[in-house]
Amino acid sequence: MARPLLHGMRRAHPQAEIRAVGPAALLSLLGGERTFDAGDAWPARTGPGEPGTAARERTRLAAELRVWRPDAALILPFSFSSAWFARGVGAAIRIGYAHELRSPLLTHALPRPARGETHLSREYLALGAALGASEGSLPLLVPTPEAEAAAAALIGRAAPGAERIAVMAPRSAYGPAREWPADRFAALARRLAGRGHAVLVCGTAGERDACRRIAGEAGPGVVSVAGETDLPTLAALVRRAAVALCNDSGLAHLAGAVGTATVTLYGSTSSAWTAALGPRVRVVQHPPVCSPCFRRTCRIGYRCLTGLGLDEVDGAVREAGA
Ligand code: SF4
Repeated sequence: MARPLLHGMRRAHPQAEIRAVGPAALLSLLGGERTFDAGDAWPARTGPGEPGTAARERTRLAAELRVWRPDAALILPFSFSSAWFARGVGAAIRIGYAHELRSPLLTHALPRPARGETHLSREYLALGAALGASEGSLPLLVPTPEAEAAAAALIGRAAPGAERIAVMAPRSAYGPAREWPADRFAALARRLAGRGHAVLVCGTAGERDACRRIAGEAGPGVVSVAGETDLPTLAALVRRAAVALCNDSGLAHLAGAVGTATVTLYGSTSSAWTAALGPRVRVVQHPPVCSPCFRRTCRIGYRCLTGLGLDEVDGAVREAGA
């Protein structure tokens, strides 16, 4: 979602020294694009006993960046802590959205559009407008040679000899209100395997059991690789796929960014706000009157997801070329 802003800033300021602060995994994924010159991992809380440690690390990082004397900071997260951090690094210009009583920390507190009114990538891009960033063509994300090699090795282990692969991401960290039913993922995986694809079921280490169950239910030709990839490897893996079938989840964004045909299934959230970017992204969604509710769980039966039929989704996958 941040890539249009990052590319817009680099186009507007080709000579500027730009540093990015964010999740380490995203920095390693995007570092090769050269939209920023250096990346600093955001000290995140790692457990209930860790807030003090994270706060100390953020203070240390802010002090380090203050020595660098940045002219401006663009603050993408809507949190108070991120605005506090930007003020701590001493940036003279601090641009972010007005939210969580943080406006006094910002020099440019932009009014935030209603959720879903503007695509999130455009919300981010608007932060850079005061510094000259504007919309332009978004290049495909190109995985590094190291990531390509790691993906090739993984495919060689998980699906030796496969000529065509399909990937699917049947889980969502957000919750069940973003998850198409697991038995339908399994059924569609079986169909894809029947059409000659090796199907790789992707997820995080925490989703390993669920992904294995789906692969087991689908049968031969379907394998779980959950927990076996970092983000750069996953990007390279999905780039080799004929199609990626995803919930509204991180893999959809990754697949869209590398240019793979991507079918994204939407439940409780808003595709107008967060649909993945990319030239071959297709959204399948039947929003009932209660949508988007942005809930993690549903008390009335997940109609937004159960209404997405197997044949309809398979049709979208076939049209995508698989
Ligand atoms: S309330 Fe409606 S949109 Fe929200 S999860 Fe339930 S069925 Fe889906």
